[in-house]
Amino acid sequence: MPAPYRVLLETLRQGFPQPVSDRVHDAYFVFSIMQALDKVDDMKSELPLLGEPTELDYESARRQEIGPSSASVEDVSRELVRHFAGLPIFSHPRTQVNVVPPSSIASIIGALLPTIYNPNLVSDDTSHGIAVAEQRVEAMTSRLLGYEPSRSAGVFTFGGTGTTLYGVKIGLEKAVPDAMERGVHSRAVMISSGQSHYARLSVAGWLGIGEDNAVQVPTHLTNDIRIDLLEQAIREVVADGKRIAAIVATMGTTDAFGIDDIEAMVALRDRLVGELGLDYTPHVHADAVIGWAWSVFNDYDFEENRLGFRPRTVRALAGAGRRIRKLSLADSIGIDFHKTGFAPYISSLFLVRDGEDMRYLARGREDMPYLFQSGEHHPGIFTLETSRSGTGVLAALASLLFLGKDGFRALLGHIVEMAELLREHLEGHSTTTVLNGGNVGTVTLFRVYPDGVDTWTVPERERTDPTYGEKLLEHNEYNRKIYRYLHEKAMDGKGVLLSMTDCYRHTDYDEPMVALKSYILSPFVDEEHVRLIVDSVLEAREHVRG
Ligand SMILES: *Cc1c(COP(=O)(O)O)cnc(C)c1O
Repeated sequence: MPAPYRVLLETLRQGFPQPVSDRVHDAYFVFSIMQALDKVDDMKSELPLLGEPTELDYESARRQEIGPSSASVEDVSRELVRHFAGLPIFSHPRTQVNVVPPSSIASIIGALLPTIYNPNLVSDDTSHGIAVAEQRVEAMTSRLLGYEPSRSAGVFTFGGTGTTLYGVKIGLEKAVPDAMERGVHSRAVMISSGQSHYARLSVAGWLGIGEDNAVQVPTHLTNDIRIDLLEQAIREVVADGKRIAAIVATMGTTDAFGIDDIEAMVALRDRLVGELGLDYTPHVHADAVIGWAWSVFNDYDFEENRLGFRPRTVRALAGAGRRIRKLSLADSIGIDFHKTGFAPYISSLFLVRDGEDMRYLARGREDMPYLFQSGEHHPGIFTLETSRSGTGVLAALASLLFLGKDGFRALLGHIVEMAELLREHLEGHSTTTVLNGGNVGTVTLFRVYPDGVDTWTVPERERTDPTYGEKLLEHNEYNRKIYRYLHEKAMDGKGVLLSMTDCYRHTDYDEPMVALKSYILSPFVDEEHVRLIVDSVLEAREHVRG
């Protein structure tokens, strides 16, 4: 009689992919995945979400504990699939809630394979060819963005926030030498625009710079940083005896696609280094997690317009392109393939123009005794993480290979075209106003007004006139009601799932402006969905009292 655990072990072994190919078992493995996919597919309907809208039951979740015995793969997969009920389908043309990208099949396979074979990018000992894939993506992306790949270096990390963390950390080491060993021994700041992502707070907090030292510079109405005020901020910080860990340019803000003038920022930095006699050069990091993808248009001939975009779209693409093409002036860049690269989470690449900069992050090999006994490429020497998955790398590689430049151009061009169409429609109605009208991206922020409001003048008045503050708040509430109506309609499968932002931006007298938001990223969005938004908004006005 074998020991009871041995019997169980035999069953458990069937629950793992076989290390040596066994055709029957290989088929069982693929079938198990297919079965799970099938169950999720069964939840698709006309609704822009899986299954039915569901209440989230955290209470019973909190009561759960591990079972006494093992379960079958089928039972586990049923349990897993259950958790997808109610999830928006982000690739659905009637889901336009946020910057969540639909993943292509190629990128899904890219993310799937490493979960089966588990390469660890800490070193090429443990990742072999996947380490080469990382270099390949780094070189492809460097070239695309205008870096010189023979000089640049890059590493995949744990998200857009991670890319900013890497950039500011390198800058911190330049500004406050040996901070890695000694701690942040001089007062340091990081500077970015008031519209930059709140990741600045995580980075400043976690690096020991301190959230209070994340200086925010006001933006233009187009949501890009004001260079005159940036200059003022730099002068003040230096006069205060503080050191600048990094100046962060936001190349595509999350909610409004504002793009900083990085050329002017770098020129300003270069001028002030001499003028103020700094003994270091403040690091300029570009948070391009959203905007990077537009660099596929760097060499697109907009005059010829081979792909046939509409004039308004060409204008928007060229408008974004004129700033994005200067990206390579940044000392480092953050890129999210999981934002505008049509890849699943997490797929974030940090690039430095000068690979030598990575030395600021390096640890001594003697500090990592169990690693690097063989192999030649050891990113683990300078990465924050120890284990690093290959999922992001291969998902990104798959996206780049699958789409190519023209594929990216067609997808980005199309979603910008749809966003432009939406703005055109909303501008055409007297009761709706586009707030980011000059915007060149795929996100549209708009406000809806009750009857009798003059939308030619009111938005401007709301923004600037404190005596209009009460009306502003009334209109904020009105827009919240419109939003709730639209949300319910979407949940009935008859409308478009939009989102709402409580604070599109602050008025000059510091009140928040509520806005409705359409974030178009799905390749499946088409003109009928754009019309549906407008029709639903007009219908909502009939039902909501101002
Ligand atoms: C989303 C976003 C981030 C954060 O990136 P994650 O990948 O979500 O960590 C940072 N900056 C900008 C501009 C973003 O839109």
